[in-house]
Amino acid sequence: MTPSRFVLEVAVFAPLRQTFDYFLPAGTDPAIASGCRVRVPFGRGTRFGVVLACREDGARLATKAASEILDEAPVFDAEQLRLARWAADYYQHPLGEILSGMLPAEVRRGRAPREALRTVWRITDAGRALGATPAGPAHRRHAVLALAGAADLDAAALAALDFDARRAVRELEKLGALERVLVAVQGTAAHASAPLEPFHVLNADQERALAAVRAHFGGFGVVLLQGVTGSGKTEVYMQAMRELLAAGRQILMLVPEIALTQALVARFEARFGAAVGVLHSGLTDQARAQTWAACRRGELGILLGTRSAVWAPLPRLGLLVIDEEHDASYKQQDGLRYSARDVAVMRARQRDVPIVLGSATPSLESCLNGQRGRYETVHLRTRAGSAVLPRVRLLDIRGLKLDGGLSEALLRAIGERLARREQVLLFLNRRGFAPTVICHRCGWVGRCTRCDARLVWHKKGEALHCHHCGAVHPLSRPVPDHTCDGEPDLVPLGVGTERVAEALAAAFPGQRIARIDRDTMRGREAIRRTFEDIRARRLDIMIGTQMLAKGHDFSGITLVAVVDADSRLFSLDFRAEERFAQLLTQVGGRAGRAEAPGEVLVQTHHPEHPLFARVFGHGYEGFAAAALAEREAAALPPFHAMAMIRAEATDRRYPQQFLEAVAARLRRIAPAGLEVEGPVAAAMEKRAGKFRAQIVLRAPRRAEIAAALRSFVVAAEALPARRRVRWSLDVDPQDAL
Ligand code: ADP
Ligand code: ZN
Repeated sequence: MTPSRFVLEVAVFAPLRQTFDYFLPAGTDPAIASGCRVRVPFGRGTRFGVVLACREDGARLATKAASEILDEAPVFDAEQLRLARWAADYYQHPLGEILSGMLPAEVRRGRAPREALRTVWRITDAGRALGATPAGPAHRRHAVLALAGAADLDAAALAALDFDARRAVRELEKLGALERVLVAVQGTAAHASAPLEPFHVLNADQERALAAVRAHFGGFGVVLLQGVTGSGKTEVYMQAMRELLAAGRQILMLVPEIALTQALVARFEARFGAAVGVLHSGLTDQARAQTWAACRRGELGILLGTRSAVWAPLPRLGLLVIDEEHDASYKQQDGLRYSARDVAVMRARQRDVPIVLGSATPSLESCLNGQRGRYETVHLRTRAGSAVLPRVRLLDIRGLKLDGGLSEALLRAIGERLARREQVLLFLNRRGFAPTVICHRCGWVGRCTRCDARLVWHKKGEALHCHHCGAVHPLSRPVPDHTCDGEPDLVPLGVGTERVAEALAAAFPGQRIARIDRDTMRGREAIRRTFEDIRARRLDIMIGTQMLAKGHDFSGITLVAVVDADSRLFSLDFRAEERFAQLLTQVGGRAGRAEAPGEVLVQTHHPEHPLFARVFGHGYEGFAAAALAEREAAALPPFHAMAMIRAEATDRRYPQQFLEAVAARLRRIAPAGLEVEGPVAAAMEKRAGKFRAQIVLRAPRRAEIAAALRSFVVAAEALPARRRVRWSLDVDPQDAL
């Protein structure tokens, strides 16, 4: 067979940074569009990949022909390919891996993309006959049949009936009067069958915010919407969306957590009907594939999702919204270490559409962009309803007796709220019973054998856990490296959520107490139900971790307490203060919604710490101004760009050796302004049996870092020391320890 004159450039689904050339299979139309999937011979087998280009010249010599073209129409549109190429370059990550990661699992594995289908009930001939008989079925069935006679029934139509129609539908199905059919999902804008909730009349601040967003309709622009929880940001997003939906455009909205998508989807559906889809990692592959298909066909108006939804195909994209834009969970911490917020801003720029970044506590990156005029900052300074902002009080716990981590003053404050039938939320970012366990007889401290970390005592299940590698040591068996003979006499040091919950139960018998952390909230359903219980006031006291701190709307909570502020005040991570200031402002935002004024209590041994005065005295903006000045003086992000090269191996020497070779090379080629720091051991050097080291790159401009990384990835492939380590790149690291 003579090879075709045409050569395909293919990004193969493999962790390789270069693309590969293949001849176009004989008899295939050379007009093949980029974005189609192909199967190509690779190594000893075949792999899937994506066509990036089809050229007639043979400048890059192909040796083999592609095995098969899978698609007639591209699965990636030009915009997605462009975004993926940008990410591949910016994060120096293999393009084929990025592209395969953008596809639903089944499409990645070669299946044809699904049609966007949904189930409807259609009346049969038997059903028509039945509906016509005067002595026909009972009233409800009759009503359902009458409705089905006019048009196919979908879930929304059934929900609009004033009775529960499910049973009638089941019976009619059994009688053969209705049948299920799968039909393509129709366009969205016209989906106004169910009675929809009206939009609020915006207050003046909200009007200004909406006007700022609207001013960018049809072109790129970033609006930073800064307003505390409850200030009405979501209302602004929804009204902006309404106009774009009516114009047939699609909207992508990201939130930091799965639980938040669930809370929002109900709110959005009440406004927009069936136009809303959800995409996150908690869904089945099948559900994800269906939503992806509906997005791709332009049939879904609003896509709500977590981080990975930023890659979804949205041919009619008209607006992006990133809620809680400061949230660290927008940054992926393995594989392609991307920031969904930053990718979203780039996507908006490439598509020439507006993007709204919303937060009560914007990241310092976004604050600076606002100051420099790259983002337009709009403030929502008041709460939307009549709720007032909570009062904050520092509880100096020096020398005080603590019961399960709780001071008497805090217990008293909780008691007062409970007596008034109000809800209390306690925040402690530490799971388990006690973060450290010591043997009272010999002084042994529980440490993980595979990590540089203490073991955490969990009472439930009676075991010592490592929160870093997941190791579990049941207390019924000998614990690792314990030094005295016989039974250890274990004593807890410090408090975790489990211990606080126990102390609360003892102090407030009969109150309904919920612990909300990763140990108690297994699965989406548990989280959803618990949040529902909080809203419906079926719970009195909630003690929880980070999970509780994010944008939820609970109106019955009038007291929020930070159990332990100190662990946050003295961290080595240069972002620790920013995170803590955000957290304090965010948890504060949970208190005192509609009717009752709220209070925030913060337990600390360091009430004089300047962070408190900044956050509580001058608000988050005061904090941000001071923190930005410090970052600038220290040449840290967002003033300097940063990247990290990490390496790990089971032998402590190898990561050091590899990174020393890398650092030497980078220093040789370093453009002026690029600083190469390290290699140094990671703050937790040993983790899950691997020793870890890192290099930090800093430069006044991104371009210098980008150039250095490009030459590093080429050189790394040739360094012999690379075979002994696993290395990774992290551009704009969130966690620089
Ligand atoms: P955020 O997203 O900033 O937390 P929301 O948009 O969720 O704020 O608004 C908080 C609460 O105030 C919601 O219950 C919302 O329905 C209500 N709300 C928002 N805007 C208005 C308004 N203009 N008039 C009356 N209520 C409003
Ligand atoms: Zn461990």
